[in-house]
Amino acid sequence: MPPITIRSTRVLLPTGIQPAEIEITGAQITAVRPLEAISTPHLPSSMLVMPGLVDTHVHVNEPGRTDWEGFATATSAAAAGGITTIVDMPLNSVPAVTTLKALGAKRRAAPVDGVEVQFWGGVVPGNAGELEALASAGVCGFKCFLSPSGVDEFAAVEPGDLRRALPILAGLGLPLLVHAEWPASLGRIPPAADPRAYSTWLASRPPEAEVDAIAQLVALARETDARIHVVHLATERALPLLREARRSGLRITAETCPHYLTFAAEEIPDEATSLKCAPPIRGRATREALWRALASGDIDLIATDHSPCPPAMKGDGDFLRAWGGIASLELSLPAVWTAAAERGLPVERLVEWMSAAPARLAGIGGRKGSIEPGKDADLVIWDPDATFVVDERALRQRHKRTPYDGRRLRGRVIRTYARGRLVYGDSGV
Ligand SMILES: [Zn+2]
Repeated sequence: MPPITIRSTRVLLPTGIQPAEIEITGAQITAVRPLEAISTPHLPSSMLVMPGLVDTHVHVNEPGRTDWEGFATATSAAAAGGITTIVDMPLNSVPAVTTLKALGAKRRAAPVDGVEVQFWGGVVPGNAGELEALASAGVCGFKCFLSPSGVDEFAAVEPGDLRRALPILAGLGLPLLVHAEWPASLGRIPPAADPRAYSTWLASRPPEAEVDAIAQLVALARETDARIHVVHLATERALPLLREARRSGLRITAETCPHYLTFAAEEIPDEATSLKCAPPIRGRATREALWRALASGDIDLIATDHSPCPPAMKGDGDFLRAWGGIASLELSLPAVWTAAAERGLPVERLVEWMSAAPARLAGIGGRKGSIEPGKDADLVIWDPDATFVVDERALRQRHKRTPYDGRRLRGRVIRTYARGRLVYGDSGV
């Protein structure tokens, strides 16, 4: 295949945004050349060429719960959102990816072309004997829950299970991703509480549950020297613990999600179950503290925790019955950029949070996360200043419901290339 070239006055390179020509041969970037002033760019100057995003927290649910979300719809939504790699969570598909056999079933269901699909394996009680085989078969790392996961086939672990699993993972050099809410610290829901009030849901998952879980994880990291990654951090109160752990040399990282960076409890009306997730979206002060933690580097990255379900499962306004999960693959780039730009944060930071750092977490940083010769030709071409109003009916995810519906967001994806293939947009801008 002859090389293709993309010439733009604004290419986000490791050295900053500059005019450049990118040469793509097959699936790889084969050259990046400074653009001479006289060469004609292929793209209007409003457009920015950036490394494709890597989303390390996606629940595709196929096989087994494809009616919630499947690979065809999820990868299509990812491409439309400028995401060129997803790392699929080991649950809510059936079987859960806790055995080599289940990983085989997952692989057979996943596409081999287009948006790249990678996998996390699961750590559940009793599967320590499967972890090495899953690692040899290529999972990027593992995921576990400290509190109930929401599905029966993926049981929560106890410290004893982690004492068996973590030394194995440390030996393999792979991270353990943890849903960090400590079950004993979750709030009890009083029988008289109104299930339709957001405050009921919020009170049932207090910040202490996150803090207590992370304290346990820090102790286990110290004991086993394993790499631990806290998924969907939703409170600033655990940040001192994380900072101190890292200062003492422990390998512990954390992510937060677009919804914690966009919404705030004070603005969530009762019955708005499209915003139900765990841990819950907390108050404005927390949202701002999470932004400061991203800016300072205390939080490493942003992942979507894309987790759709059939609309009927989102309940009829009852927070205690509704499925917890927010789908945002297609909207994560504009949602995060809208909020980042409002806070004066530059677009270069987005690449670190949404491409380079997640690629490192998944062990694919050698191929992803920057525009450089030898790396995969994963690119998003987008207009950071164009705005649009979200119409959920137009989304590509299987079930359209999203709390972003009707919001004006900034940043429109024009074209996405995954491993050299155009997966979204058309080639003639
Ligand atoms: Zn999740």
